[in-house]
Amino acid sequence: MIVVLRLGHRPDRDKRVTTHVALTARALGADEVWVSTQDAELERTVKGVVDRFGGKFRIKTGLDWRKAIRGWKGEVVHLTMYGERLSKAIPEIRSKNIMVVVGAEKVPREVYDLSDWNVSVGNQPHSEVAALAIFLDRYTGGKALEKNFRGRLRIVPNPRGKTVIDRGKGKGGDAA
Ligand code: SAM
Repeated sequence: MIVVLRLGHRPDRDKRVTTHVALTARALGADEVWVSTQDAELERTVKGVVDRFGGKFRIKTGLDWRKAIRGWKGEVVHLTMYGERLSKAIPEIRSKNIMVVVGAEKVPREVYDLSDWNVSVGNQPHSEVAALAIFLDRYTGGKALEKNFRGRLRIVPNPRGKTVIDRGKGKGGDAA
């Protein structure tokens, strides 16, 4: 079980980035995203993608992050540019249940102490989306990208155009 915990989401400013955190979590092998701030619109957007593209990914918003971290039965991995190297940390993570924590603005000091691992994806500042994608790809050994989501919409890799199979409608050509 992999859960991504997104801290500090501000619905007015972070809508796009938090949506990308959720969709990246889904596409790269996480089972759920938990967002500390309540945001019904974000929930609708993510559920819409799951309805069309498949899988069992779930989103929860508006939860107490301290309780979520303290109550997690597994290891908690906080992604931060100040943490220890990804390549050193990954082989040491033992549990099959991991909570991956990513921030938005400044992350409270307490998160560093509550987490089992503070892990950096390089020591330069970049993005929670990039950090999450690289972490999940390394953690799953790249396997998540091969997953079949068995959704209503399926995209067939195509070197030139867009091939989308809609189980309702059959094979389409150039999808928008
Ligand atoms: N300045 C903020 C702080 O001190 O916590 C970080 C802001 S950054 C835009 C948002 C999130 O991206 C961070 O909380 C962290 O989860 C992730 N992040 C950014 N760069 C990272 C890196 N090099 N390694 C791991 N995570 C990173």
